[in-house]
Amino acid sequence: MTTDTALRDQICLLAKSMFNRGLTGGSTGNISARTADGGLLVSPTGTSFGRLDPARLSRFDAQGTLIDGDAPTKEMPLHTAFYDTRSSAGAVVHLHACHSVALSMMPDANTDDFLPHLTPYGIMKMGRVKLLPYFMPGDPAMGAAVRGLAGKRSAVMLANHGPVVAGKDIEAACNAIEELEDTARLAMLTRGHAPRGLSDDDVAQLVARFDVDWQS
Ligand code: ZN
Repeated sequence: MTTDTALRDQICLLAKSMFNRGLTGGSTGNISARTADGGLLVSPTGTSFGRLDPARLSRFDAQGTLIDGDAPTKEMPLHTAFYDTRSSAGAVVHLHACHSVALSMMPDANTDDFLPHLTPYGIMKMGRVKLLPYFMPGDPAMGAAVRGLAGKRSAVMLANHGPVVAGKDIEAACNAIEELEDTARLAMLTRGHAPRGLSDDDVAQLVARFDVDWQS
């Protein structure tokens, strides 16, 4: 019997929507969500966001044992690092998103505050984004680097690779990672044109009003 039907359908619908808009291509990207019983549903390894099968998602129980579905994404340690360090995390999404990756390769990339302060939602949706170094795919140091942030950030950018974002639920996580990519796109579009962004006062007001994760 397949459990969590509505959540499975929502994961596949949101993943397909992101794939259709070119936010992650081929068989890249992975997505996971907490189930009502404390387990996880995770996109299987080697799958495309455009063609996820709700019945074949990897299902873990609350103890972290794979109990159903196909083998999970190889980037599973990134997901568990967020769940283990942020009790509020109900979903985690990772994309290979073009503009975010481009911005991560700029020589002046800010490692502690990756995104320029351009729009209010770019601040509110994911808080301050940490730029992590480049890791070889599958390197366990990737998950360790997220754990090293001790749950203070909901969003990280893996240099030369892609963003990873945690949210309270699957919709919040997807909305936030889309905002991250949109902000990186704006940053690349306006790069070299000295854009007028938000002032430090504007940012401080947003952080206070919307309880944004902004600690260094
Ligand atoms: Zn990846």
